[in-house]
Amino acid sequence: MPLTSDHALSPIAILSALPQEQRGLMELLRRPRKVIHASRDFWLGDLHGQPVVLGLSKIGKVAAATTTTALIERFGVRRIVFTGVAGGLGHGVKVGDVVVATDFVQHDLDASPLFPRYEVPLYGKTRFHCDTALSALLFEASCGALAHESLVLQGFEGACVHQGLIASGDRFVSGADESNLLRDLMASAGHEILAVEMEGAAVAQVCMDYGVPFAVMRTVSDRADDSAHVDFPAFVDAVASRYAHIIIERFLKLLSKI
Ligand code: SAH
Repeated sequence: MPLTSDHALSPIAILSALPQEQRGLMELLRRPRKVIHASRDFWLGDLHGQPVVLGLSKIGKVAAATTTTALIERFGVRRIVFTGVAGGLGHGVKVGDVVVATDFVQHDLDASPLFPRYEVPLYGKTRFHCDTALSALLFEASCGALAHESLVLQGFEGACVHQGLIASGDRFVSGADESNLLRDLMASAGHEILAVEMEGAAVAQVCMDYGVPFAVMRTVSDRADDSAHVDFPAFVDAVASRYAHIIIERFLKLLSKI
């Protein structure tokens, strides 16, 4: 049974992939209460006067699907917002930029020749769309956050916000040849991807199954190239948590006005 059944009282879920990304949000949480469910820690509380649940997706599509299902079934969340990091694949998508997803594709899904490459079997779909209104708010919050003084001080003066398609798969993409091949292969199938990560498409598919609106922002932590594994840990520790904190704070303020 969900903890709340009244739609008006049901919380917004803020989902992060890694604990480092969640740290800044935890510091903002009022009246925190931990609930352990499905071998995961969920934190309930208020952020800017809104009831929220903070969750960790863990890494990979299956783990993210479990967390998303738990948020919907157990906590009755009415909206899900995901903050995380990703490898930049699109031309001009650089470390420190933010990508707000419009939709997701699974780059490692291949049931051909039974189904077209990348299509999710029995769904008749290749791309899963984010909620337009929620994504527009997240985009506005991200643009506002990047213009924020304290982020500029961290050395990402040229950082910008992109909006478009993100590819997910159960693989940390960390080679220039591999990422170029992935981008070109997907483009030839009509999928111009901006970034690659490991959870978003699973969250999108579960949210579609349940009819729950969701939006995703990913800070670009690496270029999915030969130095991705070097760039990644330092970036997550130093920057991603701060981005999540500032962008979600702005997002919740915008949300409370509508
Ligand atoms: N070293 C980390 C593991 C990170 S896995 C640890 O010790 O916990 C990479 C995470 O960041 C995933 O959540 C994925 O969604 C995202 N990500 C960032 N860059 C990526 C890339 N180049 N390829 C795939 N996922 C990436």
